[in-house]
Amino acid sequence: DPAPLDLKQYIREVPDFPKPGILFYDISTLIRNPEAWQVATGRLAQDVARFQPDILAGIESRGFLTAAPLATRLGCGFTMLRKPGKLPGKTIAHKYSLEYGEDELHIQADAVRPGQRVVVLDDLLATGGTLAASIDLLRKAGAEVVGASVMIELLALGGRKKVDVPVTSLLTYE
Ligand code: 5GP
Repeated sequence: DPAPLDLKQYIREVPDFPKPGILFYDISTLIRNPEAWQVATGRLAQDVARFQPDILAGIESRGFLTAAPLATRLGCGFTMLRKPGKLPGKTIAHKYSLEYGEDELHIQADAVRPGQRVVVLDDLLATGGTLAASIDLLRKAGAEVVGASVMIELLALGGRKKVDVPVTSLLTYE
């Protein structure tokens, strides 16, 4: 067998983005490479399938990129967690605080039936604030949140401690 593909080679590290002092892990360079993206979605699908989900929830916007292809692969539904003002019809909202200020995520009120098993997806886990807020929102909507999966986890920030469901990550950085 050929050596397994090292996906880290396809993640571009961009210093001082979006602000001075921040090192940004850019997945654009991964998703634009068909072979690497195929391998990444295949590995993610294995992680996510273990949670036996009914629905995958993607966090706007890079969480959509992983949740949508995995939903078709695994035969799950796909639902969007979005910033205010984007989703038509009745929505459920959850406000959460960030390092500087507040943010808010919405889900359509009828997106999840009570007790449906939901896995939430994002591209990257940093402080865990976004993932924790998404799980709170999904619970408000009646979901049984059974897991979370990301492509990249920044270990030094300890984000998974904020998340009370099992989290899988494909790539970790110190
Ligand atoms: P947290 O809430 O865990 O601190 O931050 C995670 C959120 O910020 C995710 O929605 C993720 O898309 C975004 N994010 C933070 N830092 C990075 C980064 O270096 N690269 C990418 N691709 N997303 C990031």
